[in-house]
Amino acid sequence: MNYDVIIIGAGPGGIFSAYELSKLAPNLKIAVFEAGNPLNKRKCPIDGKKIKSCIECKTCSIMSGFGGAGAFSDGKYNITNDFGGTLYEYIGKQQAIELMKYVDEINMQYGGSGTKLYSTAGSKFKKVCIQNDLHLLDASVRHLGTDINYIVLENIYNYLCDKVDFFFNSHVDKIKYENDVYTISAKNQEYTSGKCIISVGRSGSKWMESICKEMNIPTQSNRVDIGVRVELPAEVFSHLTDELYESKIVYRTQKYGDKVRTFCMNPRGEVVNENTNGIITVNGHSYEDPAKQTNNTNFALLVAKHFSEPFKYSNSYGESIARLSNMLGGGVIVQRFGDLIRGQRSNKNRIEESFVTPTLNATPGDLSLVLPKRILDGIIEMIYALDKIAPGTANDDTLLYGVEVKFYNMEVKVNENLETKYKGLYIIGDGSGITHSLSHASASGVFVARQIAENN
Ligand SMILES: Cc1cc2nc3c(=O)[nH]c(=O)nc-3n(C[C@H](O)[C@H](O)[C@H](O)COP(=O)(O)OP(=O)(O)OC[C@H]3O[C@@H](n4cnc5c(N)ncnc54)[C@H](O)[C@@H]3O)c2cc1C
Repeated sequence: MNYDVIIIGAGPGGIFSAYELSKLAPNLKIAVFEAGNPLNKRKCPIDGKKIKSCIECKTCSIMSGFGGAGAFSDGKYNITNDFGGTLYEYIGKQQAIELMKYVDEINMQYGGSGTKLYSTAGSKFKKVCIQNDLHLLDASVRHLGTDINYIVLENIYNYLCDKVDFFFNSHVDKIKYENDVYTISAKNQEYTSGKCIISVGRSGSKWMESICKEMNIPTQSNRVDIGVRVELPAEVFSHLTDELYESKIVYRTQKYGDKVRTFCMNPRGEVVNENTNGIITVNGHSYEDPAKQTNNTNFALLVAKHFSEPFKYSNSYGESIARLSNMLGGGVIVQRFGDLIRGQRSNKNRIEESFVTPTLNATPGDLSLVLPKRILDGIIEMIYALDKIAPGTANDDTLLYGVEVKFYNMEVKVNENLETKYKGLYIIGDGSGITHSLSHASASGVFVARQIAENN
């Protein structure tokens, strides 16, 4: 079957490529190949009762399927160049922001209108943070919430489904390039196209690496972020979350000079498992609908680990630490901050007697047996620093789930058009290593679609 454009991966990057192409170049024949299920068939079997922990499905419904890793996410679209990726290094800061704003407009048109756009601009917390040696990063954040995010995806799919050929449960195995034609194989069938957009996200990182090796596309990787997810009563952070929703706060530790940051803050949210290539780590999300909200707020505290030559396997380093927690706890471990400080493991009784009720069924344990000392020391220092602007953060009952790992895909060598050395082969979204967020991944999809449409 012949197409003009083949898109691999139906996460935000792939979806926004397809959307923009269908608007600007309706004459083009477009196919989207997705390893996972359609949106309505995506269901994680963990119900907290019969199935309490990950059973390692063939494709993980949290990470794969229409909507990509973001489908059941908190739907926080951060409009900023300060974090979430380095797209601006390729396409310029102004264009990157314009594209993120455009993505926000589309999300509003397809069901997101009425959701709140928060901003750090003019916030009094900037000063409060600096006074306590903490640094609040600038951003506008649209919080769709897990529920509205789903509706937006559903509406975009309904718009796209008669304009684009979708192939679900169709993992692309191989890509060949010959005489300006890309041939991809999925489910033992071959399909061809003149242009190919790869947007395989984090779950496709290993596959992406193998394709780059086969096609001799240069890559580099040297970073992994490791830490814990903190869960505490929503009141502790409500003065910040009510005004900013999410605050990205960075702290430089006194002991080692490492940077620790807050990440993915979910007011009144839930802590969830995440499965990346069979390794269970932790994440979080929250709903826009007050009826589905909890009494807790969660956020990650991450320490960035950059490695220098000759070590190249930063993700494997993160995986090994996550595996250790999986080995000790059979999945994610939870520990009270007070227990960690006193050097004792948390057990079922201590968690049950705690004033904070965990939203994730994790195994009580000891994170100091899992996390390297340098990382753990950084996290503890940051918790005490945050306690100054949000008193109660360092309470005994604050829960720490481990481990949270932010894997970075290796950065693929592409030019300022996000095109590889092969003409018409674009690598975008988190799979390129250039973006790490919904808004940046979506913006990169719009960016390449506009170029393809322009040269059509
Ligand atoms: C629980 C959770 C919560 C999150 N919350 C937020 C948030 O609030 N805000 C934010 O900015 N970011 C959040 N993120 C991160 C965000 O989801 C990603 O940055 C974003 O989805 C990246 O988009 P993408 O299109 O590049 O990749 P993905 O969304 O990862 O999509 C890639 C798709 O490609 C498919 N695929 C992979 N390999 C192949 C192959 N060989 N053939 C066919 N298909 C393939 C995968 O199945 C997947 O569906 C969250 C992530 C998770 C897991």
